[in-house]
Amino acid sequence: MVNPFSDIINNEFKSIFNNAISAILEDDALTVGCTLEYGITKYENCVNCLYDPIGQKSSNRFQDGGPAPFPFGTICPLCNGNGKRPIISSENVNLAVIFEPRQFLEMSTPVNTADGYIQTVAKKAMTPKLQRAKEIIVSTDISGFFSHRYQRVSEPFPIGLGNNEFVICMWRRSG
Ligand SMILES: [Zn+2]
Repeated sequence: MVNPFSDIINNEFKSIFNNAISAILEDDALTVGCTLEYGITKYENCVNCLYDPIGQKSSNRFQDGGPAPFPFGTICPLCNGNGKRPIISSENVNLAVIFEPRQFLEMSTPVNTADGYIQTVAKKAMTPKLQRAKEIIVSTDISGFFSHRYQRVSEPFPIGLGNNEFVICMWRRSG
C-alpha cells in the first residue's frame, strides 16, 4: 500500500509548517500574555533606612522620605534590618501556550504523568530569555482553570521542520 503521506515533507511543506507556527506566534494571534520571572537579579539599598556599609546591614535609622517611618534603633520594617532589598526582575512576553498534554509537541514525558504541565512555543530568538526565566505566570482567562504560576523544568529545545526556527519549553505548576 502506498503511504498517502509519502513525499509530503518537501521544502514547500516545511515552509508552510514554519510559516504557520510563525503566524500563531504573532502577538495578536494565538499567543497569550505571559510574565517571565527571572528571580532575584540584584540587591539595592533599602529606601527606608540608612545602610551601614561596615556592618553590611541596616543602621536601624530611618531614611528621611522613606515610606515606612520607624523609631530610631529599631528594625526597619521594609527590609527587616537587612539594609538591602532583593530586586526581582521580570518581563512580559507573548507566547503560544499548550495546556493540554495530549497536544504537547515532541514530548518525551509519558502523557499520563503530564498533569500540571504546560508547554510554551516561541520563536528561537526568545531562547536566552527562556533560559533565564525561573518561573512563568500565564495571564489569561484560560489559566483560570489552572494555577497561574509555573516553574521551568526543561531547557528550551528546538522544534520545526528543517531549520528549527522555534523552541519549546516545559513548565510545571508551582503554586
Ligand atoms: Zn530598610
